[in-house]
Parts: sequence; structure tokens; C-alpha cells
Amino acid sequence: MFKEDLQTLAQQHLLRELSLINSPSAPVISLEGREVLLFASNNYLGLANHPQVKDAAIKAIEKFGVGSGASRLISGNVTPHHTLEGELACFKDAEAALTFSSGYATNIGVIPSLATVDSLILADRLCHASLIDGCRLSRATLRVFHHNDVDNLKRLLSKQRSHASTLILTEGVFSMDGDVAPLPEIARLAKEFDATLLIDDAHGTGVMGTTGRGTVEHFGLDPRRILQMGTLSKALGSSGGFVAGPKEFVAYLINTSRSFIYTTAPPPATAAAASAALGIIQQEPQRRAKLWRNREFLYNGLVAMGFQLTSTQSPILPIMVNDPELGVQMSHRLREEGVWIPAVRPPTVPKGTSRLRITVTADHSLEHLETALRALQKVGKALKAL
Ligand code: PMP
Repeated sequence: MFKEDLQTLAQQHLLRELSLINSPSAPVISLEGREVLLFASNNYLGLANHPQVKDAAIKAIEKFGVGSGASRLISGNVTPHHTLEGELACFKDAEAALTFSSGYATNIGVIPSLATVDSLILADRLCHASLIDGCRLSRATLRVFHHNDVDNLKRLLSKQRSHASTLILTEGVFSMDGDVAPLPEIARLAKEFDATLLIDDAHGTGVMGTTGRGTVEHFGLDPRRILQMGTLSKALGSSGGFVAGPKEFVAYLINTSRSFIYTTAPPPATAAAASAALGIIQQEPQRRAKLWRNREFLYNGLVAMGFQLTSTQSPILPIMVNDPELGVQMSHRLREEGVWIPAVRPPTVPKGTSRLRITVTADHSLEHLETALRALQKVGKALKAL
């Protein structure tokens, strides 16, 4: 059974395989024994490998050991978790925050605490798998609205009146398209229809907004009306997820959220590292400025060459190739040229929308960006993708 299914996936150019890396998440990596340029990491600000962040993790290991020994509610709740949650609440301008072992665990834990079998969930069509899995676990009625389509969302909200509660789900920055949700309009609709709004700002946190607080800051929205989820694993360079909102909401999650309750507390070192990263994000705005400069340079270069991009507004720069085979071929050829950009294919993205998902970081140098552009032009021309 496995063999046949795997063969089918391979024939469809949808087989996924792991690539082995023997170095940190940095612009130059050692990929299966070869040095290549990495354009596929969410380590947007370069903090995963930052000396202060590593030092905070090492110090936390020295003081608290590696594992936390138990779940948060038993005996795993140590000072680094508590400190980080206070800092995250402050960063997101919320009353409180709660951390989870991953962003995935956050979404599958938070949504079933916000919606039950009597609820209605309206989710953007391109919402991340973790949001969708959270919806499934909640057993609420799930309706999907067209991507970033506020009129469609309004229509669905107007139609539904019989549910006990309504939850709207969107991403701040969409992970596979890099575009940004029309949050002001969505927040207005949430208020008008008395719905709760949860935004997944995994890719906005540390990246969007004048001080990196995320997409809510980018739009200048009132954070008290929005529940904000994020990860510690992307711009914050660590591991774990969190949600920020009212104090009572967090107290309720501590009592009901299964992926928070029934799992060992995240390692103290990952919390300490995320705290250090939050400090750097606020003290070194030049990192975010560099990220955006790099993003503009690469974006302009790709557009000038004639690549078809999504309507991205972020450091995620997906080149649409649509056909999974072409995506895989381009990715292989780029790798031969010393540039690592994976092809993202269904089911991660809808059928017919395969893409090369480029992510750029603050740590890339101008030379790295120019090398990538040259390689993309060469491969794009050779494979007639340009
Ligand atoms: N939400 C979005 C939008 C994501 O892109 C991701 C990570 N791919 C997650 C949630 C899950 O976060 P984590 O990797 O920390 O589990």
C-alpha cells in the first residue's frame, strides 16, 4: 500500500523527500555535503543563529537543564516561560499571552477552545493546515471564504444567524503567497457581526509594522479587539508558538486547551532564546530595515526578469510555475547552481498553483541576492519558465 501510494506521488511529481543540512539556518548552508545559498528559511531576522540568542539558550540549559520534566500545569512551568509570556503580551499590546510547544500546537489548541460544535468558523481559503486542523478538532461548522475577499466574508456572515458563536480566521501574512490580509475590513466585519477574530501572524511577527509587532501594528488596528497568534520559530529564531489576548481568555485556555494541557512544557532554553530575540527585535530595528531592503532588491530583480510572482507584500517571494514537474525541475537545477529554493506543491498549495517559494532574510548580502538572481535567470531561461 505504501509503495504504490509513494509511486503515484512520484509519478505526479508530488513526492516529498527530506534534504539533509549540516549547518545552522544561515544564508550559506551545508546541504548534503555542498555549500549552497539558502533562500528557504523563515529565520527572517537571522536570530536563530545570533550569538545573544544562542547564549540565552545555553545559559537556560545550564540553569534549568534540557527538558522541563512535566507539563506546564504539573511542574514544568519555569521562570523562562513566565518571563516570555509577559514580554509577548507587552510586545503584542495585549493583556496576556500563552506559549505552546509549536505554532501548530497553538492553532490546534486555541481554536477548539474558541469554537464548539454549535459554532460557525469562517476561514480564508488559504489558511494554514494548522488552522484547518484546529477547526476540524473543534467540530464547529467550517465555511471557507475566497482568499482575502471581504465581500464574500460579509455574505457568509450575513447568511448565518443560527450559530452560538462565530469565529473568523485569517493569516496576517499568508505563508505560501506572502500577501497580507485586509485586516481593517475584516476587523470591522467581526465587530459588526459580533464575531471573534483570530489572526495567525506567524509570518508577520517581527517582520510587519514599524516596530515589528506584526500585521495589527502594520494596519494601526486596536489590538484589544483581535486575538493574535504567532510562532517563536520564524522571525524570533527559536521554537514554539503563542497566542495573545485578554487575561480571561488566557486563563480559559490554561483550563481547556488540550495541546497546552496534555504535553510536556517547551524546553526552558527555547523560551529564554525567544525572550532574547524579542529584545533584539526591539533594540535593533536596523535588522528589519535590512530585511525589507533585501526584499525590495530581490522582488524588483525578479519582476524585472519577468517572473510571475504572487501579489506578495512580504519577504516571502513565490514564483508561480503552476506545474509541479516544472517546479521540481527548477528547484533541482537551482540547487546545481548553488541556490536552494524548494518547490512548494499540492497539498500545501491548491492544485495548479505550484511555486518556487523564495524567502529572503536580513542576513543575506547583496552578493547573495545577485547570485540568486543570476541563477534564477539562467534556470528560468533554460527551462522556459521565463
Ligand atoms: N501558521 C502558519 C501560517 C505557518 O506558516 C506555520 C509554520 N509553517 C505555523 C502556523 C506553524 O508554526 P510552527 O512551525 O511553529 O509549528
